[in-house]
Amino acid sequence: MADKTHIDFLIVGAGFSGLVMAEQLSNAGWKCVIVDKRDHFGGNAYDRKDEAGVLIHPYGPHYFRTNSPRIVGYLSRFTDWHPVDYTIKSHAAGRYWSFPINLNTFEEWIGRPATTAEFETWLEEHREKIDKPANSEEVIISQVGRDLYELFFEGYTLKQWQRHPRDLDPSVCGRIPIRTNRDDRYLREEFQALPREGYTAMFQRMLESSPGAELHLGVDFEEAKNRWSYTHLVYTGPIDEYFDRCYGPLPYRSLRFEHESFTADELVEREAISGKQGFWQPAMQVNYPEADVPFTRIVEIKHATGQQTDATTIVREFPKAWTPGDEPFYPVPAADAKELYQRYAALAAGEENTTFTGRLATYRYYNMDQVTGMALTEAAKLLERFGVRERA
Ligand code: FAD
Ligand code: UDP
Repeated sequence: MADKTHIDFLIVGAGFSGLVMAEQLSNAGWKCVIVDKRDHFGGNAYDRKDEAGVLIHPYGPHYFRTNSPRIVGYLSRFTDWHPVDYTIKSHAAGRYWSFPINLNTFEEWIGRPATTAEFETWLEEHREKIDKPANSEEVIISQVGRDLYELFFEGYTLKQWQRHPRDLDPSVCGRIPIRTNRDDRYLREEFQALPREGYTAMFQRMLESSPGAELHLGVDFEEAKNRWSYTHLVYTGPIDEYFDRCYGPLPYRSLRFEHESFTADELVEREAISGKQGFWQPAMQVNYPEADVPFTRIVEIKHATGQQTDATTIVREFPKAWTPGDEPFYPVPAADAKELYQRYAALAAGEENTTFTGRLATYRYYNMDQVTGMALTEAAKLLERFGVRERA
């Protein structure tokens, strides 16, 4: 085999985490090589146009949101923004519901107009008084009671995680806001917007702003180890895989996506349902919490991207257990999984010259802004250790 080329940093994974690290380290003068086993960069946030010309999120909908001006400031160096009030619906008992639960949902539930005060009184009467919710069931029934929990949360969560909400961290269902006013936005964060030209365009600019960083697609970590020697490794893949699953596999949830595209003509008869010309359903996302529907949600991302095109594409998401060969989309936020992760984290702490960062390497159910923040922090630690190098 030919001699290995020596580089400063080998970065495994070209998602948010790897690309932010590369941008920071290469701008400090360090020679970075980024590898990804996929044939594109962007990780799970990658977007592209499909055969119908519709901009889609192939790995599930990615709604950028954050409360951090620092993260917005950083990413704004690579993109402008398309502000979106992310609104969705839930479909249960044969009808669409305003969701997440808000005053409109309450009116739909009781079948007549109501006020915030009336809804608050109703909640006080129906919610179960639990001081410190210990799991995802308690976090919802302590806010809205059992009926609304069973309608919107129990079945969805069982499908998504193949675990009862009682066996999941409160943070899982606790992600979903519950409001007594008419604010029906799905997310709570202050800043809600998509990169104006999409995530892939933003990552492209990030790469162009990473002097000398080399990207090698279709190259996995094993192959990279044979091609390069390096001073330091940044690893953003699954932590159990790094350690050959020596303590057994960490649990992940995976997904199967089913895409369907429609022409303008085909959409005409859907107008009564979608309420808009050129769309298939009434919102960018419709959740299907009922057990007899095999998917959890249908996403029509065109509602959010604002793309002007006659055709549309919808994507049904079918959750499944992760088995080798599947994408490990979700770490499982539950006590047993965390315990196993801690054993791998202890090995990682003893690993010299290696940084583990990102959703998979730290086994955290983290959003894009959170992994960006983590990568900026990890890069700052490395720059404190290695300093800045004058470029030749
Ligand atoms: P990833 O994006 O997973 O990137 C890791 C990369 O490493 C991958 O490209 C992978 O191919 C590569 N890799 C792994 N192992 C190896 C190896 N051995 N060799 C080479 N390459 C390797 N966040 C939000 O903020 N808003 C949302 O609405 C949202 N929706 C989501 C919906 C779904 C269905 C999923 C799964 C996630 C969602 N997220 C959302 C989370 C978001 O995807 C992550 O926070 C973010 O993409 C994580 O970036 P990352 O770089 O850490 O990991
Ligand atoms: N959830 C639910 N019903 C819904 C939407 C969400 O029970 O209609 C629960 C479910 O357990 C889900 C979690 O809340 O996994 C978080 O939902 P979110 O939409 O934030 O999940 P993600 O987009 O990360 O898949």
